[in-house]
Amino acid sequence: MSDPVHDCPCLGGSAEHVTRRAFLGASAVALPALGWPVPPQPAPRQPARDFVIEASWALVQRGDQQVLVPDASVRVRGNSIVEVREGRIPGSVRRIDARGALLLPGFISGHTHAASGSPTRGIIEAGRSYQRPLEIVDTLGDDDLDALTAYNVAELLRSGCTSHLEMSLSLRQAQSYVRVARRWHVRGFPGGMVPGTARLFPIWRRTNDQVLHDAVAGTLVEIDENRRFALSVNGAEEGLIRPMMTPHATDTHTPETMRAVLAAARELGNGLHLHLAQGVGETRTVQRLWGQTPVQWMESLGAFSMPVFGAHMSGATAEDWAVMQRHGAVYAHCPSGGGAGASSGTQPYPEALTAGVRTNVGIDTHSNDYVENLKLAVICGRARARVLNAATRSTLKLPTIQDAVHGATLGAAQGLRRDDLGRIAVGARADLVTVDVSGLLVGSGAPGPEPLSNLLYANGLSVRHVVTDGYAQVLDGRLVVDDEARVVRRGAAVVQKVWAQLQQEGWFRS
Ligand SMILES: [Zn+2]
Repeated sequence: MSDPVHDCPCLGGSAEHVTRRAFLGASAVALPALGWPVPPQPAPRQPARDFVIEASWALVQRGDQQVLVPDASVRVRGNSIVEVREGRIPGSVRRIDARGALLLPGFISGHTHAASGSPTRGIIEAGRSYQRPLEIVDTLGDDDLDALTAYNVAELLRSGCTSHLEMSLSLRQAQSYVRVARRWHVRGFPGGMVPGTARLFPIWRRTNDQVLHDAVAGTLVEIDENRRFALSVNGAEEGLIRPMMTPHATDTHTPETMRAVLAAARELGNGLHLHLAQGVGETRTVQRLWGQTPVQWMESLGAFSMPVFGAHMSGATAEDWAVMQRHGAVYAHCPSGGGAGASSGTQPYPEALTAGVRTNVGIDTHSNDYVENLKLAVICGRARARVLNAATRSTLKLPTIQDAVHGATLGAAQGLRRDDLGRIAVGARADLVTVDVSGLLVGSGAPGPEPLSNLLYANGLSVRHVVTDGYAQVLDGRLVVDDEARVVRRGAAVVQKVWAQLQQEGWFRS
């Protein structure tokens, strides 16, 4: 859920809609076969968590540096990395052959809305609002919701994203996310957005602040419901599930409700994740209401005593970046937020890097391809920095693929205050991903001398193996924690149901 520049870049009609309607015609969306109930599926029996990954390159932690090691072997036992070395590890232990690939720490997305990806992808890019599709998603029954969540979480895993700071758009969606994450050994930092989708839009899009004040009682109820669920699953699956509190944004809360959020987050002990200064509209609103910018307001409430991940931040001021930097808080930059090609513009990734703020690459909503988002962060960030440097004589840093990978791994782990994540080192959790850097389209037929640069030619389908906490989830490019074809089939059936309702309501003609 991105709002990079304005409060609402995509609500309402535009000339583009007319053009698209003419193009699509009345039968643009085939009516679907409806979804069917999806009973809970036990995970297939996992192979023993004792194996070696052999890769052409690995990005290994040496002190505080990430260092590329050629011809690398990493041994996993249980949930941890127990050996890292250049060359082969002798013995008869099971081996995962990742020759031609680069072995990296599993990617950490600092911002996802898992169940919202596939229902909106491909239908909002030319300018329609995501509001109505997301409202329909929130009315789905639990079985349909789980099928939709599973499809999208499968995509995240498929692209190497092992850890998700998941801002589900309601408590029910957070519960669905946790059901799927637990089944597949995903490392989840979930929370239900407050206010959730059912109450959000009238509060967010208000023209009279009395609406915000009148919403306090309902928002406090939502906070407590989310808090109670989060406490019930905190630390589940040997610590893989670590809920955070996830308020929607600073302009949909009052000091009373935000203090309740922060108290719950302290009780949980895992941190805070929110849309933060996501547009100039949010910044102006918070300044009008509370006399401070969004980041300064959160600081005055004591938010930065815990890990904080702020998404989007297109409305951030220089003072805001200074506050983030001072507290080691993380800017979750989501380069495809708002839909690939549909976002209102580039986002302030170069500004955050230049200010020395911890940065992360996040997913947001519509693309679950983590590798693609790494690339977009670099390419869009460099374009933005070059334009701004030329236009304003500023000296913004040009983002590099090293910046993006660091933010996706070690930087995010440091922001979470987890020294056992985001690194390939003995004793760290075995969250690992291999990406082909030598094959067709990505490489040159053989591993090259600077494999991180090959990531700029890769995408999620270049990911070959994914392991979280020692559990293999993707092997040779196939999801192995479930029946991949069935996950796709069931996810498709639910999306078709959502689209059928949209068609019935005339949404595609809007
Ligand atoms: Zn969002």
